[in-house]
Amino acid sequence: MEKVRRISFRARATLKLSKPLEEEKRNELSNWIKLRAGELLSKGTRIKEEAAKVENFEVFDNKIILEISSGRSVRPHDALARLRKAIGEELGKKLGVGVREIQIEDYEIIFEGSNFRKINLPFTKEITSNENEVRVKLNLTEKEIYSQVPDRIVKLFLEKQQEVPTGKEIHEVRWSSQQKPHKYNVDPSLELVKRGWVKRFDQGIWYYMPPFAALMRTMEKIIVEEIAVPNGFVEAYFPKLITLEVMRKKGQLYGIPNEMFYVCEPISRDASYFEDYMDKVKVTNETLPTELLGKLKPPTYALPYAQCEPFYEIFSGEIVDVDQGPIKLFDRSGFSFRYESGGLTGLERLNAFNRIEITYLGTPEQVVEIRDKLVDSYQRVLDKTLDLEVRTVEVTPVWMAHAGVTSDVQRSVPATLDFEVYLPYRGERETSEWLEVGNASVHFDKYMQWYNVKEKKEREVWTGCSGNGLERWVVSLLANHGFNPEDWPKEFRKYLEKLPENIKLVTWP
Ligand code: ATP
Ligand code: ZN
Ligand code: MG
Repeated sequence: MEKVRRISFRARATLKLSKPLEEEKRNELSNWIKLRAGELLSKGTRIKEEAAKVENFEVFDNKIILEISSGRSVRPHDALARLRKAIGEELGKKLGVGVREIQIEDYEIIFEGSNFRKINLPFTKEITSNENEVRVKLNLTEKEIYSQVPDRIVKLFLEKQQEVPTGKEIHEVRWSSQQKPHKYNVDPSLELVKRGWVKRFDQGIWYYMPPFAALMRTMEKIIVEEIAVPNGFVEAYFPKLITLEVMRKKGQLYGIPNEMFYVCEPISRDASYFEDYMDKVKVTNETLPTELLGKLKPPTYALPYAQCEPFYEIFSGEIVDVDQGPIKLFDRSGFSFRYESGGLTGLERLNAFNRIEITYLGTPEQVVEIRDKLVDSYQRVLDKTLDLEVRTVEVTPVWMAHAGVTSDVQRSVPATLDFEVYLPYRGERETSEWLEVGNASVHFDKYMQWYNVKEKKEREVWTGCSGNGLERWVVSLLANHGFNPEDWPKEFRKYLEKLPENIKLVTWP
């Protein structure tokens, strides 16, 4: 794409007056606009050509019709809000009127440049283009004027022009363990089902029966005792019903709305409100989603997707003090939930899975150091304690992937490092897909901006997080070392001497 040469705006709007004006006062208002508008609409602008200008206007008895043009400095929506305010303040008393409402007839953004891609935008009536420009005509009300929608449309337009084609994602190996002999070559998920260590509940959702549960707890213990605690992290519980507002702040509502699970509240807590629904269920035994739908609010929450969404919210609107040292918490109170597509058969891709989410905040130097130490710990545990063949890979930054952001920051350090384990049953190590079992990220100051966090002396604050899917850790162990506890690595067996007995039914496992 070629660079955008210039962005300009044109708007036609009506300022509706609170009451009709007689001729004399109309003249006074006209003169005021002629005299004051120029200064009012260029205030704070360094480059004169970028400021807003009233190109044309006419005062009627109960309204003012205006045509405004501008560059990128004071855009027409700002200009209209300024005019309204100034009319109220400077003329209100004298004329006995104010502006009751702003009505937008036309609002056009003109992008001069070439080679633009065809895209869709919200609030748009029409997009026209020729080889020199794209004109975006918007459909706006007063609400969008005050919430700065046109500015966000400009941002979205530029972002969508830059979209990197998928498939060009980063994947660069930064570290590898030694190659290790394969003792086992079977897909552990099949064996887990056969043995009844897990039982399917629904798509991507499983029971973990006692032997599998013991393995999960062991992995949890290893991650807590060998990774989180030695690196100075302290346990906290993070909320597991996440408000959509917090999802928006993290970017997930525009990045991955198609990958989250949503939660609805009932419209009323009053049981009588559900009487007809309850009666229907009793007489038909159906779950009747359509009957129920009218009794539910639109979703107000989503289930945790990354598990760290509420971490940054702790600091939202607050002031942090980096002199107090970095903040290091971990949360193991949860399931995480993802709407994964496709027929989910194995335990390595789930709709509901467990992880320990490790989160940190501090100065850039602290956050980079914390992440590097975490990486060392992960590598040691996966390589030595679990004796797996593992590699560390630099990938597309997680905050970009989850927020649908396409313009990268200048990266002085890798943003996201993934830990991948080789699974022999999937084929040759050179060609098969390895399983991502965890990652450790630096988000730079992104979430501090998005969650509106301040530092006492306005020093730069960064955050980071690290997640690990415990089911994948268990799958990795079994896929490489098999199901016989005697074959499991010595370091691992220190944590788990004996597996508990499973339950047995006539028909299962
Ligand atoms: P993948 O590319 O395999 O889908 P991801 O990049 O989506 O993984 P992240 O968003 O980095 O994964 O999530 C952090 C960790 O959570 C992963 O390293 C993995 O261990 C685990 N994880 C992610 N998605 C799932 C899932 N659907 N089932 C089980 N574990 C998962
Ligand atoms: Zn995270
Ligand atoms: Mg994924």
